[in-house]
Amino acid sequence: MEYTRQRILVKGIVQGVGFRPFVYSLAQSLNLKGFVMNSSEGVVIEIEGEKSSIFFEKLKTEAPPLSQIMHVEIIPLHYYGYRDFQILESKDEGSFTLISADVSLCDDCFRELLDKNDRRYLYPFINCTNCGPRYTITESIPYDRPNTTMSVFKMCADCEREYYDPGNRRFHAQPNACPVCGPHVELIVKKERDTFLPSDTNKALQRSSYAASDRREHSNPIEKTIQLLKEGNIVAIKGLGGFHIACDAFNKQAVERLRLKKRKSN
Ligand SMILES: [Zn+2]
Ligand SMILES: [Zn+2]
Repeated sequence: MEYTRQRILVKGIVQGVGFRPFVYSLAQSLNLKGFVMNSSEGVVIEIEGEKSSIFFEKLKTEAPPLSQIMHVEIIPLHYYGYRDFQILESKDEGSFTLISADVSLCDDCFRELLDKNDRRYLYPFINCTNCGPRYTITESIPYDRPNTTMSVFKMCADCEREYYDPGNRRFHAQPNACPVCGPHVELIVKKERDTFLPSDTNKALQRSSYAASDRREHSNPIEKTIQLLKEGNIVAIKGLGGFHIACDAFNKQAVERLRLKKRKSN
């Protein structure tokens, strides 16, 4: 029997950066059969077909911009007879792989964000395979949606369609979300009127204890927060990686009150 199947283990920053969709498209274009999947060591690929040498070349030269290949291991195997090329579910082997850092908004998402006809018009949590949160939403590896803080947000039909379409920019984009199904921004005003918490509504927030008397505002929370800061209030802004406490640094009273609350002398 001939060694016509190849198993490829790719290590480095190869999860959450559009690597599997890239491998999928590359294999399709070269008529190769097999699979690609995330494992806790990196990405595992198996290919069968005539154009495997072009595959190896393009794997390195055309890899997605955010990926960083550090090591490629190729193991020759006996022919198996794959009928198509698939993206398979992850295998968790409890080892270690590298997760990309959070990536700032890409040009495509920026364009959608400001497009009145786009379903994500002004949606602050817009992202795709080329941008968005990674490290801060990862709870465990491999990097798949159930292992991220996004697991509590069930994708709507529109988002799901993007997620499963290999030709879409959001194919397997784990933090994929929209105003219908994803997190949103809200402002929580404490009853005693001295602390304000604009926040996304993720699980952590639902777990935190806010008094029932606290007021929750859903309309224009960002503009209202700016107003509150200008009025000298203290605001805790909950982002993807924790809280950022803010006040007007030029407002002496606000700064003093914050120092008092934080028990800092200067
Ligand atoms: Zn993007
Ligand atoms: Zn959605």
